[in-house]
Amino acid sequence: MNSITPGRKADWLETLRRAAAIVEALPVERPCRLCDSFDNGSCRRWSAEIPAAAQGQGCDAFEDAVPF
Ligand code: SF4
Repeated sequence: MNSITPGRKADWLETLRRAAAIVEALPVERPCRLCDSFDNGSCRRWSAEIPAAAQGQGCDAFEDAVPF
């Protein structure tokens, strides 16, 4: 597709704005178990064991793990 009508363009842009607003409103989670630095109860980033009570919250250094 190389062109679009003004009305369709406006509709698509509005749809994208609404989708972006939905994603922006999603809360972010960063539990240690999903972090690339997590290693069986310990953290490679901080070289420390992670208290069980803190693992659900994670920290600001959270890194998304490769999903495979
Ligand atoms: S979230 Fe923070 S504490 Fe937890 S594993 Fe990742 S870097 Fe370590």
